[in-house]
Amino acid sequence: MSVATIEPPLEATLDPIRHDWSLQEVQGLFAQPFMDLILRAQRVHRAWHVPNAVQMSTLLSIKTGACPEDCAYCPQSVRYDTGVVAEALMPVAAVRECAARAKAAGATRFCMGAAYRAPRARELEVIVEMIRAVRALGLESCATLGMLSPQQARQLKDAGLDYYNHNLDTSAEFYGEIIHTRTYQQRLDTLAAVRAAGLKVCCGGIIGMGESPADRAQLLRTLANLPEHPESVPINRLVKVAGTPLADAPEVDAFDFVRTIAAARVLMPRARVRLSAGRESMSDELQAHHRQPRRGARPRALCTARAHPARP
Ligand code: SF4
Repeated sequence: MSVATIEPPLEATLDPIRHDWSLQEVQGLFAQPFMDLILRAQRVHRAWHVPNAVQMSTLLSIKTGACPEDCAYCPQSVRYDTGVVAEALMPVAAVRECAARAKAAGATRFCMGAAYRAPRARELEVIVEMIRAVRALGLESCATLGMLSPQQARQLKDAGLDYYNHNLDTSAEFYGEIIHTRTYQQRLDTLAAVRAAGLKVCCGGIIGMGESPADRAQLLRTLANLPEHPESVPINRLVKVAGTPLADAPEVDAFDFVRTIAAARVLMPRARVRLSAGRESMSDELQAHHRQPRRGARPRALCTARAHPARP
């Protein structure tokens, strides 16, 4: 006997895409009854996306550790004793091999992360070759390399890079509690340079660093009020790493985390809102609120020795 798949009869919600959200409006979303917020997020999701489609990406750390920045959550900072072994920039051939394996395992996008404050010219030249190699395999490419100048962003675009990841992490107000080696404005400047170069943007934040509910609302408001919404919005749950200043941060309430994802979905309808870091420690039930694939369905991490513990 065959069983038909019945999609819930949700009407499409085609509210206009906005870039002028007030803090009160965003906080109002968070304050909705839980199931109302989930339903609203689902309506938006189904209006703009294929409901159960999953895009598979593989992330490779192409340069690990020894980062001069002091992001309080990050085991790759040279300032914290976390046991991360620093590794130099990988050779292009090794990255090509990892990308080929990622493609064979089903990935359509290959993300390369390097623990830099900002890449230097000669490092960027090598990374440009990596991007060309990834694109030659027919994969989409994504990179996260820290701060970029407008000229560097154009260089990456010219090499064929599709996406650049650069997270805002949290609200402007709370940022100084987490990072002291750069400013929020520098983050925004890099995002502007990336956009101006014609790259797609992957930008989100981390929940669970001790921020207030208002900080979470402000983060989403900042993202939603960018001149163009990021194509990809990773919402990370803090991965607490021994040796970092946030090793003992309090647990995030699971419902608060889901609310954050649902609010992001409503605010940025076209974006792919992603559960990123912290997913391994979430229950299947918690992940299901975001319609992610079951754990067993995730692509295997490739070249795991170089898997990036945190993203700049
Ligand atoms: S998050 Fe990025 S910039 Fe910050 S310490 Fe880690 S690798 Fe460096």
